Amino acid sequence: MILTINCGSSTIKYQLFTTDVTRVVARGIVSRIGETGSCFEQEVGGRKVQEVTAVANHHQAFEICIRNLLHPEYGAIGDIHEIEAVGHRAVHGADLFIASTLIDDDVIAKMEECVPLAPLHNPPNLIGIREGLALLPAVPHVAVFDTAFNQTMPPKAYLYPLPYRFYQEHKIRKYGFHGTSVRFVSQRAAEVLARPLTDLKMVVAHLGNGVTMTAVAGGKAVDTTIGFATFSGVMMGTRSGDIDPGLIFHMRRQLGLTPDEIERILYKESGLLGVSGLSNDMRTITEAARAGNARCQLAMEIFAYMATKYVGAFAAAMGGLDVLVFTAGIGENSPEIRELICRNQEFLGITLDAERNALAVGGREMALNQDGGRTAVLVVPTDEERMIALDTMRLAGVG
Ligand code: ADP
Repeated sequence: MILTINCGSSTIKYQLFTTDVTRVVARGIVSRIGETGSCFEQEVGGRKVQEVTAVANHHQAFEICIRNLLHPEYGAIGDIHEIEAVGHRAVHGADLFIASTLIDDDVIAKMEECVPLAPLHNPPNLIGIREGLALLPAVPHVAVFDTAFNQTMPPKAYLYPLPYRFYQEHKIRKYGFHGTSVRFVSQRAAEVLARPLTDLKMVVAHLGNGVTMTAVAGGKAVDTTIGFATFSGVMMGTRSGDIDPGLIFHMRRQLGLTPDEIERILYKESGLLGVSGLSNDMRTITEAARAGNARCQLAMEIFAYMATKYVGAFAAAMGGLDVLVFTAGIGENSPEIRELICRNQEFLGITLDAERNALAVGGREMALNQDGGRTAVLVVPTDEERMIALDTMRLAGVG
């Protein structure tokens, strides 16, 4: 079997797949590690167990995961050696990793080098890798980087027009995120359309709490909205997305806000929450908008308008558009947002079938375009864990 691990600062999520990655055998999460109210949940074959238990650190959290996977009553395996390979989600691989890779000491050292670029995410990823290696030293471990898929962007797309030394000396450039999701979704979209991925110009709209729009031409990322940090592009739950950087100086000098306050405002208090004044959750906002809340209606319109502009920009960047794919929480579940994004886009060949759009909720894979529409419009549910497991199967030579 293949174990996937997604290790964050206070959570560990894991899934156990059959070795051929056709089936998920178990999935679980340890949350609030090192905090009060730590919690463990696991689901095996439809049976859920949940427990509030003290979890002081990641080491303990891993022990809990393995103990529960091996549990005689509600576990999934009888022996730890049934795990043949482990796939780790890794957030930032900078320009050092252009693809997933088998983990060795050199890979770990290079991931350490990337820590300054992702100080919140890479350290817990590294803890997960070290703990995983200690628990399962005899099997191959694979790192799957969120940034790797976007490494095919050309310099004209990834370079900021700053003095060149910032790129040379400080690695300041666009990296992009959600690459594992976009890779999975773009490959699956080609399968659904029964067309070679190499022939297709796609825009993938990953619309979740974090939002990424990516231009994928011939299966390769050519541009993406999130840049150096996890901030630019379309507005998100609490992040503003694109703003005029001059605003930051205005907030600092004229409004007297400190850099920390400005950062908090732009990352935690803006986006859907900031405009609506109500919530960062698209479900709550949609319900309130239906009930006549004008600010929630406006938040939805700005969100969709920013996304629509990138569909157009990326179609222009690729010199055409064959497929628009929606994925992640909002993309898979919100007919309203999809309708707003696709409205008046006939000139790009985008025509939405209202009935199909209304039916595409709850993670259904569907085509939404009208019959004969020049551009395919799809919903493809994302599955980053499956992508990690597939890479692990391939690189570990199992399955
Ligand atoms: P993350 O980026 O944290 O993985 P998700 O992909 O789970 O996030 O997306 C979370 C977003 O999806 C939230 O804004 C949530 O409101 C939205 N969402 C989930 N279900 C629906 C729904 N039925 N209608 C509208 N939005 C939804």
